[in-house]
Amino acid sequence: MPEGDTLHKLALFLHQHLAGQPIQSLRLHPSFGRSLGPARVERVEAQGKQLDIVLADGWVLRSHLGLYGSWHRYRPGEPWQRPRRQASILLRAADWDYVCFNAKWARWLERDGFRLRDQRHRLGVDLISEPLDAAALLERARQLLPPATLMVDVLLDQRLAAGIGNVYKSELLFLRRHAPVTTLGALSDQALLALYQQAAELLRANLGGGPRQTRFAPDRRGRLWVYGRRDLPCLRCGTPIRRAILGAQPRSTYWCERCQAPTPAS
Ligand SMILES: [Zn+2]
Repeated sequence: MPEGDTLHKLALFLHQHLAGQPIQSLRLHPSFGRSLGPARVERVEAQGKQLDIVLADGWVLRSHLGLYGSWHRYRPGEPWQRPRRQASILLRAADWDYVCFNAKWARWLERDGFRLRDQRHRLGVDLISEPLDAAALLERARQLLPPATLMVDVLLDQRLAAGIGNVYKSELLFLRRHAPVTTLGALSDQALLALYQQAAELLRANLGGGPRQTRFAPDRRGRLWVYGRRDLPCLRCGTPIRRAILGAQPRSTYWCERCQAPTPAS
C-alpha cells in the first residue's frame, strides 16, 4: 500500500520531469472523467496519499492510488507491463508516457474552487511537508473519534494527519510501546502527540532512495521492527512477533506481545 513517503517521492519525481512542461495529452479512464488535449503542467504535489497534477489553466487532476495503484513511465511505443484497460491516467509528454494503473479514483477539481478547499480542509496536516500543529491535531482526534476507537484505526485516519499507512502503523505502535488494541481514550495527549511526531520523523527519514526503514541499527537484522515479521523473534526481546487483522477497516497488524503489553498507563 503506498504510504505518504512513497507519494512524496512520486510527486517529486513527476514534478521534476513535468513542472513547467507542455504535455500533449492527459487521458483519463472514462469512469473518472474527461480527457484533455495539449496543456501545461504547473506543478505536481502530494497531499497525504493524494497526488495533485496542477495545470496552468487552473484545473487540478487529483488522484488516489488506493491499495493497488502504481505509476509507470514508458517510452512511446514501449510495451506496458500491465493491460491497457487498467490504465487510469495516461499523461503523454514529449519523450515519455506516464501511466497510472489501477487508481482508486481520479477527478478534476478547480484549483481555486470550493471542492478543492473543502477536501484539503478535511485532510489533516501532511506529516511530511507541513509542521505538526499539536493543538489542532489533538482537537481533531478528540472531536472526530470516540474514545473507544482503536489506535490501529486512529493512525490510519487521514483526517487527523495525512501520510501514515499500514506499515508505519505497526512500526509506530511498536516504537512507542503501545498494544495495537490500545484505545484513543487510553492515551494521554502527550503520548498521542509522540506517535505523530515520530511518524513525521520516520516519513521524512524515508524520502531518500532505498527501502523503507524504521530501524536504523547497522546490524542487518532488519530494517523494520515488526511489520512483515510474523513468528520471527522480536528484535528487542526475542518474543515471536504476532500478526492479526485488526480494526474497523480490517488490516494486518504486527506487534510484540511483550514489548507492547497492554498497561493501564499505555
Ligand atoms: Zn519484543
